[in-house]
Amino acid sequence: MKIHEYQARDLFRAYNIPVNDYKLVSSAREAREASMAWKQVVVKAQVLTGGRGKSGGVKLANSPEEVEAEAAAILGLEIGGYPVDRILVCDSAPIEKEHYLGLILDRSRRAVTLMLTDQGGVDIEELAANNPSAIHKLTPHPHKSINEAALDSFLANSIPSAEPRRQAFLATRNLYSLFLENDASLVEINPYALTPGGEMLALDGKINFDDNALFRHPEIEALRNPEESSADELEAKTKGLSFVSLDGDIGCMVNGAGLAMATLDLIKLHGGEAANFLDVGGSSNPQKAVDALSIILRNSRIKAILINIFGGITRCDDIADGLLMARRKLEIGVPLIIRLAGTNERRGRAILEEAGLKAIHGLDDAVKAVIRAARGNS
Ligand code: GDP
Ligand code: MN
Repeated sequence: MKIHEYQARDLFRAYNIPVNDYKLVSSAREAREASMAWKQVVVKAQVLTGGRGKSGGVKLANSPEEVEAEAAAILGLEIGGYPVDRILVCDSAPIEKEHYLGLILDRSRRAVTLMLTDQGGVDIEELAANNPSAIHKLTPHPHKSINEAALDSFLANSIPSAEPRRQAFLATRNLYSLFLENDASLVEINPYALTPGGEMLALDGKINFDDNALFRHPEIEALRNPEESSADELEAKTKGLSFVSLDGDIGCMVNGAGLAMATLDLIKLHGGEAANFLDVGGSSNPQKAVDALSIILRNSRIKAILINIFGGITRCDDIADGLLMARRKLEIGVPLIIRLAGTNERRGRAILEEAGLKAIHGLDDAVKAVIRAARGNS
């Protein structure tokens, strides 16, 4: 789960990680009024995506009139598919150096890893791609408190002066606690700015949380922003389906999460691109097939649909009934490729054949067929 910058800043404050002053507003006039006391103001779009600076979503303003004008312009933007409806006004900090400080769950090291560079700012992705050795790493022992000497020498790579480093030391320890105590999966401060006065300030914040741990953090769950999920994902959730939107053109309906993942892998292996992950679960309710297909069909990119059922608890005849029901209720304007195997396969196959539909037995064959169909030469 992602949260907005202003929500990340609230958490930073709760953990004693210094930030420049900020206020959340939703109109240009409010922006102006909220920032009257500040000499220079940063006006920032609050959207659940990065790279706002490069998209015109972060602007400096030097007078109340400029704040109002920049706020009005930013409120009219759409960034990464998200319309901007709220903005943050911040007391602009003078910047001597832009550091990047990040905490990630590093699977190769099987532990939370800290990353730091003195070349932070809006080009951090390029730095990571072109000059990864400029990013210093520290992996504290996951079961011990962070080693103070190791943390200090890690910070010294980028922050040579003693006083800012002392501040960064305390802030980084707190950030590490924030990460662990809230089951985060990513925490980033970029820029983590050194001011000419020798202060270390978080001028931006990004935090992602582990969805599977949210049940034990109701106060984090309460920060959830509905715009994070697509309308399709939200509807799937209410119907008890596990659904994730993807970028391709082959719709997928599969029973079982593992089989669904394997299906996506096979589609990719054979040169296709899946439009979604969809696990209809193990139940045998034909209505689930109708719900699943109706959600898949709402995506206008879909060129063909693969139904992959390996009947265990799920019975192939129930799925076949569900598919016929869906055909009666829905306008299915694209080829349907059906793979049925397992419990009651023969009965399911017979039901489909009576209605003029064919089921394929082999998964490889079915995947190749759906890719051909999506390319328009079935
Ligand atoms: P992002 O592009 O979405 O990561 O947005 P950021 O909040 O990181 O802002 C982008 C850039 O704006 C930063 O890298 C800074 O260079 C600049 N910026 C942000 N806040 C301030 C500030 O308080 N003062 C100054 N001078 N520049 C800022
Ligand atoms: Mn940033």
